[in-house]
Amino acid sequence: MAVLARENEMSQKVSVRLPDGSQRELEPGASAADLAAQIGPGLARAAVAAEVNGQVVDLARPIPDGAGVRLLTKKDPEALEVLRHSAAHLMADAILRLFPRAELTIGPVVEDGFYYDIHMPEGKITPDDFPRIEAEMARIAGEAAPFVRCEVRDPDRDEVFARYRAIDGGHNKFKLELVDDIRRRGEGLSFYRHGDFVDLCRGPHVPHAGWLKHVKLTSVAGSYWRADASREQLVRVYGTAFFDKAALDEHLRLLEEARKRDHRVLGAELDLFSFHEEAPGFPFFHPKGALLFQTLADYMRGLLRRRGYQEVKAPLVLSEELWHTSGHYENYLENMFFTKLKLRDEKDPSVVHEVEEERPLAVKPMNCPGHLLIYRSRPRSHNEFPLRFAEMGLVHRRELSGVRHGLFRVQAFTQDDAHHFCTPEQIESEIGMLIDFFHEIYAAFGLDDVRVELSTRPAKSIGSDEIWERAEGALRKALEHKGVAYALNPGDGAFYGPKIDFHIRDVLKRSWQCGTIQLDFSMPERFGLTYVGADGQRHTPVMIHRAGYGSIERFLGILIEHYAGRFPLWLAPAQVLVIPVSDRFNAYAEQVTRRLLDAGLRAEANLKDDRVAYKIREASLKKIPYALVVGEREAAAGTINVRSRDAGELGESAIDAFLARLAQENAPGGSAPASA
Ligand SMILES: [Zn+2]
Ligand SMILES: [Zn+2]
Repeated sequence: MAVLARENEMSQKVSVRLPDGSQRELEPGASAADLAAQIGPGLARAAVAAEVNGQVVDLARPIPDGAGVRLLTKKDPEALEVLRHSAAHLMADAILRLFPRAELTIGPVVEDGFYYDIHMPEGKITPDDFPRIEAEMARIAGEAAPFVRCEVRDPDRDEVFARYRAIDGGHNKFKLELVDDIRRRGEGLSFYRHGDFVDLCRGPHVPHAGWLKHVKLTSVAGSYWRADASREQLVRVYGTAFFDKAALDEHLRLLEEARKRDHRVLGAELDLFSFHEEAPGFPFFHPKGALLFQTLADYMRGLLRRRGYQEVKAPLVLSEELWHTSGHYENYLENMFFTKLKLRDEKDPSVVHEVEEERPLAVKPMNCPGHLLIYRSRPRSHNEFPLRFAEMGLVHRRELSGVRHGLFRVQAFTQDDAHHFCTPEQIESEIGMLIDFFHEIYAAFGLDDVRVELSTRPAKSIGSDEIWERAEGALRKALEHKGVAYALNPGDGAFYGPKIDFHIRDVLKRSWQCGTIQLDFSMPERFGLTYVGADGQRHTPVMIHRAGYGSIERFLGILIEHYAGRFPLWLAPAQVLVIPVSDRFNAYAEQVTRRLLDAGLRAEANLKDDRVAYKIREASLKKIPYALVVGEREAAAGTINVRSRDAGELGESAIDAFLARLAQENAPGGSAPASA
């Protein structure tokens, strides 16, 4: 009987469900690779990994009975991540072969590829080493060793673990720290081996190293162990990988293009902004850069006014006490600037005392508390809801020198910030309005590829179940009403409320998080805000934080690269340059310039003593949308000769006709007319 029962069990097939709803029977212990083979040889060749019950795993993993299985091929974004992470192992292997003293730490996947953080007790890795590292990787890939998963129960006796420890010299304390952390969390230790190389890893991986043929190392940067500046400095080697050569080549072309468009380089070339040792990480905007900045702020102000926002202005420096109330002192201290007051000694003016203020001050890292104080300055009623306070709010945040990056990461920046105060019933319509608003902003810059993410309640949070459910429901409904596709990040909201983030993709396909809409159930309570409701009772308002550009400085940096400095007319800091063919026509050039200025255009005349060809070339280098050449004929006829940066020679034109042509192009979001 017993024998019979076991036979029965053995023959019990495993049943799995495919994405199209169909069922398949597999032998017990069968893997996703077996499933692929059963479906067909084409899929068996194409499968990279599998998603089993929502989790991406190796093809070789046995599938449990009743599982939902989706086979991943190179078309799936998850598969690309698996490939890139596998490439990180390969790179670490190659680096160890070439730099025997290197000590490995971690190697995750990032947006466009992967990196590996490596401790170098001696020597260093630079881009000059990339060719030989890549050659070594190609050699390892050629061997096509399978990636094998090994689970380790008792590290002290395990041969795989011993090999992991020994592989980079046996003195790597970072590895011990990682392993200790995992064991302390009570999680299982898993390793992946290909050939002789072993790395601590959750997986999954591609079936074998032969998949890793289209890999390229892209850059090196400095980093710190555990992102902690007081710990060891590491070298971070970045790379990327693709399934085929064409995709890799296209990516490298975009990277090269991004290098050419670097906003720091263009910022200097176009004389837009600079940075100085005297104020590290704080941008200095030059006249043309300040004009661009102002154009962005003006455009935003127009949008805000149309939507019933009221602009406010709160101080930069507020009492330290306030930041205790807001919670920033507790959670954000290291990123804040504090003031320190000084006083000259009355008897000896060469001596300066530091003053201990009874009420010390701090520079604001966020605008919210200022707006809360304005709200609280008088009683509020539901009749004035939704109340929308906006501010082009300058905030200061300390950033380590290592992470500062041009306009992308600075120590002072201007948020197009606003706070809505409303009733719980009004959340959905407020969010609906904001979704349209933000899409309108991005569309004006040709940024039509907008990805939206909704993040919901995290494990640690404040506020009742009821308010969370209501708020999340309102956000979801608003997104669905507007027909906006969104990704859900369960548990990724702030502790004080759910949020919606807007990620835009520029012409180089890079993704930038810009807009954010955050509900806040905490601050109104912390600051004791109330309003009188329709029922005559006092209630706590719902608060919404929101920014469309995010930071104007950063958005400007993105735009400089997005447009490669060739701003559309409405943004261009210098729109029209008037060029007389000789100084005999300077007066006429000035007359033309005056007409343009009167029409509201940003125009200049170049009256310098240079040749016309040189001036035209200069206009083109400065990427000015229009150059108007005037001479004998134009002065006599009262016309201009138009050269467009984008459309080439447009020929002679009456000034009025030119102004009419520019009117539509100069409106926010405008572009040049299709025909000349
Ligand atoms: Zn791995
Ligand atoms: Zn805020």
